[in-house]
Amino acid sequence: MKLISIVVPCYNEEEVLPMFYKEITKVTDEMSRQYGDLSFEFLFVNDGSKDKTLEIFHSLADRDSRVRYISFSRNFGKESGIYAGLKNSKGDFVVVMDADLQHPPAFLPEMYSYVKDGEYDCATTRRTSRKGESKIRSWFARKFYQIMNKISQTEIVDGAQDFRFMSRQMVDAVLEMSEYNRFSKGIFSWVGFKVKYMPYENVERPVGTSSWSFWGLFKYSLEGIMAFSTVPLAFSIFLAIICGTLGFVLLIMSLFAKKGSQLASVATTLLTGAFQLASTGILGMYLGKTYMETKKRPVYIAGETDESYRAKKKK
Ligand code: UDP
Ligand code: MG
Repeated sequence: MKLISIVVPCYNEEEVLPMFYKEITKVTDEMSRQYGDLSFEFLFVNDGSKDKTLEIFHSLADRDSRVRYISFSRNFGKESGIYAGLKNSKGDFVVVMDADLQHPPAFLPEMYSYVKDGEYDCATTRRTSRKGESKIRSWFARKFYQIMNKISQTEIVDGAQDFRFMSRQMVDAVLEMSEYNRFSKGIFSWVGFKVKYMPYENVERPVGTSSWSFWGLFKYSLEGIMAFSTVPLAFSIFLAIICGTLGFVLLIMSLFAKKGSQLASVATTLLTGAFQLASTGILGMYLGKTYMETKKRPVYIAGETDESYRAKKKK
């Protein structure tokens, strides 16, 4: 028997949860029929909801023994919800998905077909359109991916989502990243492994509203940049080079100009600034190293060893 854990972070989802449960069980029942050796657990995380989300968990748990849940003492954010779900999941495979049906359960059978024999370690969807989203928001989103991919070594695919069907091995790797400020999109990418991207059109929420405000998303994108890049810390080095070059050019010019003393004083100011910026930048570079060290990320993650190869062959 293989167990699949379905992890669902929920914040104020009383309206959509019954619908979600109905849809997801329809799909999982069908998969159980198709494969015969599959069982499921539904691991809901209540992220400090202010509505009746927890009561709905109770009624689902009464009805279905496969339903498990964790209820947070307050709102900790979706990232914490995902972490708690992964940490407490018992499955050989783990699915992370939203409660609001924007991650259609109908994808699960195809996702499973990619990961079941180890062809891929993760199957995930990729939005190809941002239908139903404002133009400004899409623009900022696109810019975010551009900047992020320029200044960070962790590549994040535009339109990548937190809808993932993962092997236990990949989940354990994600859990090894025990950092407090979690940016899942970056973490999922950082751990590597073979990932299958399935393109799809954005689906709108059937009920309720997104809990993300524009400002919230903006802060979240800064979070992503800060979690995976220390380039901003070294930004003053860049400024130092500009000021230094400009100062140096002016200094040379002042030697030949008629009113050279004025130019020389501007040049001196620029050069002094450049020295100060350079020292700040050097401090920033060391701070960046220290910052990354404090995350205590694993030094490497093995995808396969002779041991795992032999164990797989035996099966
Ligand atoms: N969510 C959560 N904690 C939060 C905010 C959201 O667990 O603080 C959950 C929410 O219930 C949903 C998922 O995260 O299952 C995605 O949230 P939402 O639909 O608001 O975001 P969007 O789809 O707009 O990215
Ligand atoms: Mg949503």
